Amino acid sequence: MYWKIAAVLGLSAAAVTLVEYFLYLQRLKLKEVEKLRALERVIFFDDTLQNCREHLTTENSCGDSCSFKKLSYLIARIDDCLSTLDLCMFLMTCHNLSSALARAVERGVKVRMLYDHDMAGNTHNYGCQIRWLRRHGVEVRTRPYAHHMHHKFVVLDGRLAITGSANWTLQAFCGNWENVVVTADPRLVHQFADTFQELWDMFTEALPESA
Ligand SMILES: [Zn+2]
Repeated sequence: MYWKIAAVLGLSAAAVTLVEYFLYLQRLKLKEVEKLRALERVIFFDDTLQNCREHLTTENSCGDSCSFKKLSYLIARIDDCLSTLDLCMFLMTCHNLSSALARAVERGVKVRMLYDHDMAGNTHNYGCQIRWLRRHGVEVRTRPYAHHMHHKFVVLDGRLAITGSANWTLQAFCGNWENVVVTADPRLVHQFADTFQELWDMFTEALPESA
């Protein structure tokens, strides 16, 4: 009789422990989601930032609205990336962001990039970072096509996405009116991640030799 009671009590205790563990995991997951959601924001760039081109080069901020300060937020997200970084970009000339991608490769992050074929093949495209990125271990794919690969989005560790109007260029961050959106909404992030993978499978060509 007593052993039956002891067995029931033992099983109950085990069940309580399991429930507690499950709740603990749920809390951890919620905390992680909250932490990611706290990173969400929209960053705007405008024509008052033309002089910030120099601040990007010298890495000196001229104040809270400085392009370098705004870009530093995006660079920090890249520097936080642990395992995968998938990037679609029409045109890339911003050295600050290219360097952040190279640092990611150096610490073992798998960095994949889709790039517009016309932009990749245009050797007159002064400042294009694509060859430099390829030399620094970024896997780049493109594809000749009648239309442009005009996306600008990044998926970091499958948990955070960065998108918006801006190409990653000096012109975009220091002169144009542009927006950049950082989101951790899982529904949006998964759609970007799925679309990247579909495009990655379609864009099977390495860069043209002239790129
Ligand atoms: Zn500035």
